[in-house]
Amino acid sequence: MQLKTILNRVHKHQSFVYAEVELKEEKQQMVLEVTIRPRRNSRPVCSGCGRRCPGYDTLSARRFEFIPFWGILVYFVYAMRRVQCSICGVKVESVPWAQGKHPITTAYAWFLSGWARHLSWSQVSKSFRTSWHTVYRSVEQAVQWGRAHQDLSGITAIGVDELCWGKWHRYVTVVYQINRESVRLLWLGEHRQAKTLLRFFRWFNKERTSQLEYICSDMWRPYLKVIAKKANQATHILDRFHIMMHLNKAIDKVRATEAKDLAAKGYMPVLKKSRWLLLKRPENLTDKQDVSLATLLQFNLKTVRSYLLKEDFQCFWHYRSAYWAGQFLDRWCTRAMRSRIEPMQNVAKMLRRHRELILNWFRAKKAFSSGIVEGLNGKAKVTTRKAYGYKTFKMLEIALYHSLGALPEPESTHEFF
Ligand SMILES: [Zn+2]
Repeated sequence: MQLKTILNRVHKHQSFVYAEVELKEEKQQMVLEVTIRPRRNSRPVCSGCGRRCPGYDTLSARRFEFIPFWGILVYFVYAMRRVQCSICGVKVESVPWAQGKHPITTAYAWFLSGWARHLSWSQVSKSFRTSWHTVYRSVEQAVQWGRAHQDLSGITAIGVDELCWGKWHRYVTVVYQINRESVRLLWLGEHRQAKTLLRFFRWFNKERTSQLEYICSDMWRPYLKVIAKKANQATHILDRFHIMMHLNKAIDKVRATEAKDLAAKGYMPVLKKSRWLLLKRPENLTDKQDVSLATLLQFNLKTVRSYLLKEDFQCFWHYRSAYWAGQFLDRWCTRAMRSRIEPMQNVAKMLRRHRELILNWFRAKKAFSSGIVEGLNGKAKVTTRKAYGYKTFKMLEIALYHSLGALPEPESTHEFF
């Protein structure tokens, strides 16, 4: 059987034929070059308007990277024609196996971007002996296609969150769809200012925004303002994940100050390695950690008292009715205010200020799964961490859309992997 026969089975194009196949050696690497020619009397397609036009001239032959096999790199070789288009003038033709000026075939780009879901970009480039840049371009192409073809209907619940990335801890605003039946990354933008989120609403458009029923977010003021202005028909929820994060941060602050204080007074450094003990849920502690927590709890320290306040706050989430949850919240805030521990008082003040939005969590509990934002935040962090190579925001954007966007792919006649 000839190679051409196989190619015609898996990757056939109208108006073009596979011609000579040549096996070469390049830099101690086997390379297969497959020449493509236009079918006789076929007219080239203008890349500007997509119409068939008379030919103008033919450029010198170019190579297009195709899917490798048996450790052999495969290239299509084709001399692009230029057309004389009555609308666009003299233009390069468009060919069905590649897009625009890309030196990789579309089939190979989908192949690589598929693998980039499972492996890091550099692992993919090593596995298929191609460049990191080629992998990046392939993922970019897949993301662009997916974003242009995604279905944005029926979105009624979204979550707004922030991510920190890179050496300089730059912020990124992310918006997720959090409907029970569809969870995905919808949008991300640089920074976390009011105008960042305004850009999301502009992209999402008025009609879709008017259909939003639930919006989950953090207490970050610019977000609160924009959400109130742009989507005030939706129930705005301050969710569990973000509130507990604020509590954990407060405990961290109390512990750090108190540890310094104790050390200055010459007490033994009992708080030094206790950070994770205090942030973990008690049921997640190992036996050894359990013992150290017990030792720690013997001291009547501010740290310990804040820890107990936080643990007590967990009960809040078990309420079913917003009314009783509200009663609990008020009592808890009074206790926190009386604790005379400043970071805890600040949390209490913040919770009081946003009481209604926090209680919305109970009103909307059935409409979305509350763990979702936390889960997505975790996945996004894995992607950003895996991505030491993402030097620019653009790269981060593409990586996140690729891994969390649940983007569609075109249906192909042949699956290459
Ligand atoms: Zn044209």
